[in-house]
Amino acid sequence: MEMIKTKNICKKFGDLKVLADVSFTVKQGEVISIIGPSGSGKSTLLRSLIGLEAINAGELYIEGISVKESKTEVYQKMGMVFQGFNLFPHKTVIDNLIEAPIIVKREKKEIAKIKAKKLLKKVGLYDKKDIYPAFLSGGQKQRVAIARALAMEPDIMLFDEPTSSLDPELVGEVLTVIRDLAAENITMLIVTHEMGFARDVSDRVFFMDQGAIISNSIPEKIFVKPESKRIRSFLTKIL
Ligand code: ADP
Ligand code: MG
Repeated sequence: MEMIKTKNICKKFGDLKVLADVSFTVKQGEVISIIGPSGSGKSTLLRSLIGLEAINAGELYIEGISVKESKTEVYQKMGMVFQGFNLFPHKTVIDNLIEAPIIVKREKKEIAKIKAKKLLKKVGLYDKKDIYPAFLSGGQKQRVAIARALAMEPDIMLFDEPTSSLDPELVGEVLTVIRDLAAENITMLIVTHEMGFARDVSDRVFFMDQGAIISNSIPEKIFVKPESKRIRSFLTKIL
């Protein structure tokens, strides 16, 4: 089943073309890493998929449904985790998790809490459930952010540089959580600069440059013997 299908999507900010005829499909359970230089349109692509940016042209289908036809239904199939953790600072960890299921999905509070506790166990933070985000490390905050996105039971998870604002010693714990998810059947798109992780965890890697996906292939093809000069030069700079 095709979870995501895009056909020639374009996005402009004023005169600046940020996405230029981007077309791809993602199947159920696939893990895609998106790499490429800063400013190449990686964040804009994820933001467009989940409706945070309106595309100017092209077509976008989520689980076979065109976003033009049914916006809210489609976007609820996706969860997103950002570089900054964006937790609600005035809510405890567990209240961060139950907010959206109660308000958006009209879940009963007790049910939402049971599910939230399960998710907090999954990301290793059950013992932090009643504290406020300010008392968590960056890695813990990001694990809460992941659990919060999962609380909406999305079919697709989007990660935009989930470890980029973390101290180096905290990166591993967040990557471990994402790696565990990848082993489940959830479809994921991950923008990352962690090349070793991308290579291990992905079924396919998209390399973006100037608003286009210039390579869409298995990790070996990008990391072991990249054909494109552009990719080779990017990898030598980043590794
Ligand atoms: P990446 O995530 O690959 O670093 P982005 O998608 O954030 O790239 O940005 C792609 C280009 O679009 C950049 O040139 C950036 O400056 C520009 N851009 C992103 N968001 C906006 C915005 N809201 N308004 C104007 N330009 C933007
Ligand atoms: Mg970005």
